Amino acid sequence: MGPGSGLTSSVGGGLSHHSVGGGGCAKYGPCTNQLVSLEVVLPTGEIIETGSQANKYSKLPFNRFGNGPDLAGFFCGDNGIFGVKTKVSLQVFPKPEFAEYKTFLMPCKPAETAAQIMTEIRQNGIDVYDTMYFMDLIVSIGIQYGMFPMWEHLKRKRVVIFYTVEANSETELKAKVTQLDKIILGKKAEEFGPEISDGNIAKWHYEEQGHWLIAHNLWGLIPGFDPVDAECHVPINAYPKIMKDLDQWDIEHSEDMQKILEITGMRPITGTGPIILTEGSNIELTCGFTSFPSYYNGEKHENIKEINLKLWKSLLERLIKHGAMFYMFGDILSRHMVNIQGYQKGYYELMKKIKDTIDPKHILSRGKYNFWGNGRK
Ligand SMILES: Cc1cc2nc3c(=O)[nH]c(=O)nc-3n(C[C@H](O)[C@H](O)[C@H](O)COP(=O)(O)OP(=O)(O)OC[C@H]3O[C@@H](n4cnc5c(N)ncnc54)[C@H](O)[C@@H]3O)c2cc1C
Repeated sequence: MGPGSGLTSSVGGGLSHHSVGGGGCAKYGPCTNQLVSLEVVLPTGEIIETGSQANKYSKLPFNRFGNGPDLAGFFCGDNGIFGVKTKVSLQVFPKPEFAEYKTFLMPCKPAETAAQIMTEIRQNGIDVYDTMYFMDLIVSIGIQYGMFPMWEHLKRKRVVIFYTVEANSETELKAKVTQLDKIILGKKAEEFGPEISDGNIAKWHYEEQGHWLIAHNLWGLIPGFDPVDAECHVPINAYPKIMKDLDQWDIEHSEDMQKILEITGMRPITGTGPIILTEGSNIELTCGFTSFPSYYNGEKHENIKEINLKLWKSLLERLIKHGAMFYMFGDILSRHMVNIQGYQKGYYELMKKIKDTIDPKHILSRGKYNFWGNGRK
């Protein structure tokens, strides 16, 4: 899955992040879903293997669950604090022979309607490969900056949803497409033509490796802009409300945004990236704002850096209070979650006890989640 973070990404990094958004996450879920067994070097230097490989007589990894608790799961999404993954076994699947991909213009109340569509896809048990909803801000900026060439077609149109779906036979494909179209067209969405030049971003996404490239274009949206955001999961039906609240958050922080505008001539823009259907009834929400780096027009503006950080923390807190679940915890976000007391006390204390036991000298990712060791808080 992914990586939206750059043109390369390591398997160990993806597993440590529950890497998810990207190619086929509606069908396959996060990459950790495909994990069969792990070899991990613990901070004390011991080496362990998990799942079927916990049995010293097992020759090849074949099952993650068993021989005791799911110790592989313990290292999935640990953001690197519990050990170094040195060997992994993953399930891989052949690409099915048949696929279809369609893009639709959304009717009014698009966020709510897209949420209904995604919910119905799940209720009907259709195993879409990917489904994504693009809010009008992304589409309009994307067109303005030539981000996705096929969006030329969308000039007078805006909010879109697309699906990509795979099958092992024509009959299976037709059945899935009929079901999907019934759901989407039933909501008065309007289907684009089949070609990429018709605005069919879904075709680009599936056929031309767009699933790997989509996020790069978004993060590099405008040269000189800094995306100040984070990725989280929320239930499908929660995101329309969160998107509205982000608009409200933006209004409430106008004064700080104004200070950046005074330096750069442009006000930061708040919003979300594509809303991506992930496993079960979850979506992945990338939200935040695009601002400027502190080095701007040859000058260092420390106050931009300070404002960005202050705004980012405020926005993250807002999302945490919506119950959002983050999976990529870097230094700042992991500590922020702890500092604003976002964790259930018992959960955080258990995580700390495990860290103290497994990494008594706190040599791995020191400071993440405020695990500093040496009595430092
Ligand atoms: C701007 C941005 C956009 C992103 N967009 C997407 C996206 O669209 N889809 C998606 O799936 N993901 C996305 N990601 C997250 C992405 O999945 C991860 O950043 C990337 O896949 C992780 O791989 P990496 O090699 O870059 O890991 P790193 O960033 O180097 O490491 C990630 C974490 O894992 C730890 N780690 C790394 N290797 C190991 C190891 N062998 N053992 C133990 N711990 C280890 C590190 O300490 C760190 O905490 C995005 C990230 C960014 C910053």
